[in-house]
Amino acid sequence: MIQLIRGFKDVLPGESELWQHIEQTAAALFTDFGFKEIRIPIMERTELFARSIGEDTDIVEKEMYTFPDRKGDLITLRPEATASICRSYIQHKLYAADPVKKYFTIGPMFRRERPQKGRYRQFYQLDAEVFGSASPYVDAQLIYMLKILFHRLGVTDIMAHINSLGCPECRPDFRDALLAYITGKEAELCADCRRRKDKNPLRVLDCKVPACREAMAAAPSILDHLCDACHVHFETVKTALENLQTPFTIDKRLVRGLDYYTRTTFEMQTGSLGAQSAVAGGGRYDGLVKLLGGPEIPATGFAIGFDRLAEIVAQAGETYVVDPDLYVAALGEAALPLAFAWIAKLSEAGIRAEMDFEGRSLKSQMKRADRLRAGHVLIVGDDEIKKKTAILRNMMSKAQDEVPFEGLLETLGARLGKKE
Ligand code: ATP
Ligand code: MG
Repeated sequence: MIQLIRGFKDVLPGESELWQHIEQTAAALFTDFGFKEIRIPIMERTELFARSIGEDTDIVEKEMYTFPDRKGDLITLRPEATASICRSYIQHKLYAADPVKKYFTIGPMFRRERPQKGRYRQFYQLDAEVFGSASPYVDAQLIYMLKILFHRLGVTDIMAHINSLGCPECRPDFRDALLAYITGKEAELCADCRRRKDKNPLRVLDCKVPACREAMAAAPSILDHLCDACHVHFETVKTALENLQTPFTIDKRLVRGLDYYTRTTFEMQTGSLGAQSAVAGGGRYDGLVKLLGGPEIPATGFAIGFDRLAEIVAQAGETYVVDPDLYVAALGEAALPLAFAWIAKLSEAGIRAEMDFEGRSLKSQMKRADRLRAGHVLIVGDDEIKKKTAILRNMMSKAQDEVPFEGLLETLGARLGKKE
């Protein structure tokens, strides 16, 4: 038997209804906040990710699915969506008439990480980006929108962790201070951190190895090194969040795994997921559009880990599975074509109706109706055809009554139709 690839998964009915619910809730909310959906390809030239995410990041160093296509061009399955959305924004000059654009997208991402709970090699993200504004209010708005989304989905154990990464003006100063600290702790760090500390010491703050986390506990804080402009930006984000009653904690060790971030950076964390506590990550990336060959246009955004979000929403226990409203038990040759036409018309009218076509006994059809969790069963056999009435059984209360053929669809529509 052929099995799926390690780190990949199927989303089966039973779970897919929850995924649809999350997608629809998010799309509706984002639309109300003025975001438009953008759909981007799942493959891009490798160069796009190498340049934007940064050569010495985990993603580019060891996690990308990269391969030459038949002509030898290197292509990569996207590990995240921001780079592609930027590429699209630049390529189609979407900034031309009005540079302020708000986009969202939902889809699969690919990273060759070690598979474990909450960590897959194909996972899904819900991604939102705002181009064309350098304002701290936009950062605060994104965090607020995330909070509202989680609340609408019934997730309340959620906290915004925020930090600033400074800008090209003030980050070098912090980098030096951090590097000096790391140099004193070198013996305690993992091999990866020792190797990357000179090229990118910020990454050491992000390392998940417990010994590294411990060694970095007393590391200097970037917040003590911000230039005036970055400091004002960060203070404005905080005040704006307070104004919207959005709780946050300042997390001086929070850096993003990607190179392109500047200033505000944030994560939404929850206690409900164990080790993989980050459900969403984001922040400002004012330099990326320019870096990718576009004009100097600031931007900010986030990505929600869809799989992790679905896991928390599932913990709330609500079910989104829809059961049939009606199961039509057709008994005998003559009943079959009648029932067949009824279920077609009922389904068309939004009443989920099922039957089977195998001519089984009443007992086995009732069993199947039970298994399908149908709300009602409509029984029709030779006797009912003679009397021109069918029997309608309520599967919850077990009450039965007769429904005349005449006006049957209207009667069922009125009795079983959606209340809303
Ligand atoms: P982590 O610190 O958990 O590795 P990250 O910093 O690599 O996350 P981002 O690149 O910021 O994550 O992606 C945003 C979100 O996508 C994360 O907060 C997480 O919820 C989700 N995510 C990232 N990698 C995976 C994965 N391999 N499997 C499932 N979800 C993931
Ligand atoms: Mg990661």
